[in-house]
Order: sequence, then C-alpha cells, then structure tokens
Amino acid sequence: MYGLGILKGLSVTMKHFVNTYVDDIKWGFGKRYTPGVLPARQSAEARGVFTVQYPEEVLPPQERFRFVPFLVYEGTDEERQYRCTACGICAKACPPQCIWIVRAKDPETGKPLRRPAEFYVDIDICMNCGSCAEYCPFDALKMDHDFELADHDRAKHIYDLQQLGQPVEYYAKIRPTYYAAEQEAKAAKADRAAKAKAARREKK
Ligand code: SF4
Ligand code: SF4
Repeated sequence: MYGLGILKGLSVTMKHFVNTYVDDIKWGFGKRYTPGVLPARQSAEARGVFTVQYPEEVLPPQERFRFVPFLVYEGTDEERQYRCTACGICAKACPPQCIWIVRAKDPETGKPLRRPAEFYVDIDICMNCGSCAEYCPFDALKMDHDFELADHDRAKHIYDLQQLGQPVEYYAKIRPTYYAAEQEAKAAKADRAAKAKAARREKK
C-alpha cells in the first residue's frame, strides 16, 4: 500500500521522540552531570535521543578509538627509553607519508643505532588510520585518544620526538585490554623461549 513505508518511518521517529521525554523523566532532568549518567544515556541500552553538549560535556572515548599516534617509552620522563628502533616500517606503511624518522648514530663510530634521533609526525596530514601502529613490530607506536588538538599555529602540528612520547603507563591506561593482551603474549613468548633453552641444555 502506498505511503505505508512513510507511516512506518514516522512511527519510529515518534517512538524516539516520546522515549526521549520518558528517558529524561527516568534519569531526572537535573541529573545530567551525575557521574555515570552521560555514558549510560549514550550506550546501546539508552532510549530516545540524547545530545551531549560538547565541549561542556565530553564523553570518554571507546577503548578502540584512535587519533594521532604516540611513541611509547619505558622509564621516567627525564630518562626516556623509547621502544622504537627506528626501523622505518611505520613511515613506509603510512598512506599519506606523514612520518619522518632520523636514526641515531654512534658519535664515535658513526654506526647506526637502534633508536631514533628525530621522529616527526605531521598530525594535520595524519588521517588516523592506525596503519603505523598496526605495522610496528615493537609495540612502539600506538594510537592516542586525545582528539582536542585544534590550534591556530600550523607549525605546532608537526609533533617531534618529545611531543610524541608517552609513558607505557599511559598506554596501559587508555587501552587496558590491548595492553593486557600484549603483556600476556610477551610472557608466553618468554616462557616458550626459556623452555626451548632449557631443552637445548638438557640435550648437551
Ligand atoms: S615506531 Fe615502530 S615501526 Fe616505526 S620506526 Fe619505530 S619501531 Fe619501527
Ligand atoms: S595513523 Fe595512518 S596516517 Fe597517521 S601517521 Fe599512522 S599510518 Fe600515517
């Protein structure tokens, strides 16, 4: 029958419209800022239409959300030990080619070292695809959650090694599931290597 689809669509809109007020009453009009209310009203179980008044209200990003990359380091802020080995794989994998790396050199011999001397990411060109983090074989590059990076100065959007660095604790905090899985995989790998070594010793 002609028009039935339109009526069905309008009924869905009306359902959401009514549910919006029902949900408002359920949560209490004055409880918008109560901890837990915002995430609950934006969850899959929420009913009706609910608008977050950004930037006054900011929802926590989902764990898998990704914005520009950062470089993971161990140790303190003063004595950073970057996981990065300056292998250059991330720069090759980056589709818009917005990563630049300069490998460190031994000052005496001039031989290349397994760490970066300089590392730049042009975050205005970065399209947040996450390829660099996916391809990094050393878990040295991860995608950030911080998306509030607007600035009037273009030059500030070319992040250097210092700006890109984040402690491993930060990574564990924003991506706890990924971090735990990586730690588990590393522990299992170390365990296999120890067993293989012990087996080789026994054979001798
Ligand atoms: S971040 Fe990872 S992929 Fe990129 S240069 Fe460093 S170790 Fe290699
Ligand atoms: S997220 Fe994508 S575009 Fe951005 S630096 Fe990594 S690979 Fe390049």
